[in-house]
Amino acid sequence: MSYPELKSLESDIATCFRCSLCKMVPLPVFKKQEFSNICPINSHYMFHSYSASGLGYMALALSEGRIQADKALADIVFSCRTCGYCDMACNFIMESKRNEINMTLRETLVREGLAPEEYKRTMQNLKDTGNPAGLTHTRAGDWAAGLNLKKLPEQKADILLYAGCLTRYDKNALLSARKMAKLLLHAGVDVGILGDEENCCGLPAHWMGFKDNFTALAERNASSFKGAHVKTIVTVCGACLGTLKAKYPKYGINTGIEVLHGTELLERLIEKKKIKLTRPLNLKVTYHDPCYLGRQSEPQEEWKGEERTVFGQMKYTVPPRKINYGTGGVFDPPRAILKSIKGLSFREMYRIREYSHCCGGGGGRAEMYEKMSLEAAKDRIKEAREVGADYLVTSCSHCKAQFEKASSDINGHPISVLDIIDIVFQAADID
Ligand code: SF4
Ligand code: SF4
Repeated sequence: MSYPELKSLESDIATCFRCSLCKMVPLPVFKKQEFSNICPINSHYMFHSYSASGLGYMALALSEGRIQADKALADIVFSCRTCGYCDMACNFIMESKRNEINMTLRETLVREGLAPEEYKRTMQNLKDTGNPAGLTHTRAGDWAAGLNLKKLPEQKADILLYAGCLTRYDKNALLSARKMAKLLLHAGVDVGILGDEENCCGLPAHWMGFKDNFTALAERNASSFKGAHVKTIVTVCGACLGTLKAKYPKYGINTGIEVLHGTELLERLIEKKKIKLTRPLNLKVTYHDPCYLGRQSEPQEEWKGEERTVFGQMKYTVPPRKINYGTGGVFDPPRAILKSIKGLSFREMYRIREYSHCCGGGGGRAEMYEKMSLEAAKDRIKEAREVGADYLVTSCSHCKAQFEKASSDINGHPISVLDIIDIVFQAADID
């Protein structure tokens, strides 16, 4: 069996010299041994196959025909949370394509018919209902009932507020989306929604390796975004932001429309005093950088050039290929917002920004690997507790749901989890 996509990555895979740095925080940003692990699957399974290096070498063996694709291999590959942490760590020491290798391996196994049955059901749900859970008890636009938001494209607005499917169907998350809409209306922003025409951004399909379904959904969304004739799309959920801003272009789908996360717009509105944070909040909080709002939202430029080799082994690119260090993600606006709230005590965790530890909830159907994925979230909650926080604040509906689930499963030291929108709404003291 030949796998052309993996074949084209063989030389990149082989640059891995098994240093294992993709399993831990790079030494220059190392703060504490207990919180130095980086890869949720490696921390849990403690075996090299469960790491970026292990996945890469399995991809190489597959490509070279030394092993066959089977369910056991697929089970290891799909355990990866696609958090992208390994890509940053490996890029710290060499030009790496760990994200691309991980995703290509998944997509190859899906094409080989090795996707788990749960994945296939999720894809059928996406096709039938427009959301991965197959929920039909409400319509997509119900989250905004009574808010009097403009309905696009029938009406015109500068900004499209994109709720995202987890946000609009989760009873807590949809309250945050409603608060976001109220904050924007309060600030006089010209905002509208797609209502019942809003679809899932497609991230679950991307996570699970269903490349064709993902691109088809992304193209459909791109067409409705363009048809809305807005200047900017603002996402409520961090996962949607990374998908629209970085993954769509990576798969060749461009809308030409600016994409912002809610925190980026809120920060601007607070700066311009369109939203005034007048109410003091005496809370001790820390902030969790979601993978797809942070490092995974950094757009990747398509490189066209030549790869050359010197001394038979050293490679370089002409012109130099831009390396993604993940530093271009949305890291500062949430922090600036939290620091501008009176009375609020903000403290950083040890693994932050592009080196944030995954909540364990990504990768698609996290419940299939429940023990491992909850362990990742509990590790993060422990870190938040360790720095003295009573509230773990995040800006992604997936992370929030995952932390709430993990916190309810902790004996003794749970933590309160908040969406940053809820905090802004409280501090702005509006109804
Ligand atoms: S993938 Fe990169 S960081 Fe991980 S073992 Fe290989 S070279 Fe080291
Ligand atoms: S993407 Fe995340 S879970 Fe997957 S191998 Fe890399 S660090 Fe580990």
